[in-house]
Amino acid sequence: ATPMSIISGVGRAAEFGVLVRDADALERASALDTLVFDKTGTLTEGKPQVTAVETAGGVDAAQALRLAAALEQGSSHPLARAIREKAADATLAQVDDFRTLRGLGVSGNAEGHALLLGNRALLMEQGIDCASLEARIEAHAAQGATPVLLAVDGQAAALFAVRDPLRADSVAALERLHGEGYRLVMLTGDNPTTAAAIAKEAGIDEVIAGVLPDGKADAIKSLQKQGHYVAMVGDGINDAPALAQAEVGIAMGGGSDVAIETAAITLMRHSLAGVADALAISRATLRNMK
Ligand code: ADP
Ligand code: MG
Repeated sequence: ATPMSIISGVGRAAEFGVLVRDADALERASALDTLVFDKTGTLTEGKPQVTAVETAGGVDAAQALRLAAALEQGSSHPLARAIREKAADATLAQVDDFRTLRGLGVSGNAEGHALLLGNRALLMEQGIDCASLEARIEAHAAQGATPVLLAVDGQAAALFAVRDPLRADSVAALERLHGEGYRLVMLTGDNPTTAAAIAKEAGIDEVIAGVLPDGKADAIKSLQKQGHYVAMVGDGINDAPALAQAEVGIAMGGGSDVAIETAAITLMRHSLAGVADALAISRATLRNMK
């Protein structure tokens, strides 16, 4: 039988906008030492915006933006929405042979050009030299922007700096969790320099970046192998395997249905303050039982 105090803990959590699936989850939550956060949409607002367009010579900025936006018509990634929005006034060409390269970017043909759009790893994989943009890639990444690169006919042609700011209340919630003794980890497919800049701003201890969508659950596993007792906090479809792998999966309110179905704990509000509340209630509940 579930002890009365656990049942009242679940009820108390609900008053704080924290939905706990089962009593065991509250007990596991009381014993965590490591909290892993998805970046995009969990730590950040998840509404990225293009803040700069830089070119390498072959095409001008307006043309680069038009080609990139044409390609992103086929993608539902938050970065794709940012690039389409920036090109909102342009008439976009039709794209042939469109492909999504998961965790890397997109490719296709438009206006008679072969196009590739995504991260540095994608261009490297295709043997495209990024030297002409390298310094600007690093400069934007060091500021916490994600550099999205465009190659036209096999040549690096442009860089779009895309910014996704931290949620207004993320820093305070993370500070509170830090003060309570948790180790804080960021897990992201974004590039290591960008991730490190945002982690520093957020007060995160460790960054695991450049992770392909299928690698998020493995990253949790390797923390567990090191002896950590881990919660994963995420909002996306691609976070679901990691939410399932963690001792406790925590889904952000308003996130994808798959994340919410997989998680043991769901926050009704889309705020990390709920994580701190959930863990405080779990600890208080288990303390009362002893
Ligand atoms: P995350 O959601 O953590 O950013 P993803 O696996 O979705 O991770 O993407 C990893 C990286 O791949 C992105 O940071 C970006 O550089 C690149 N990428 C993925 N999809 C696209 C896209 N549609 N357009 C441009 N870049 C993309
Ligand atoms: Mg996300």
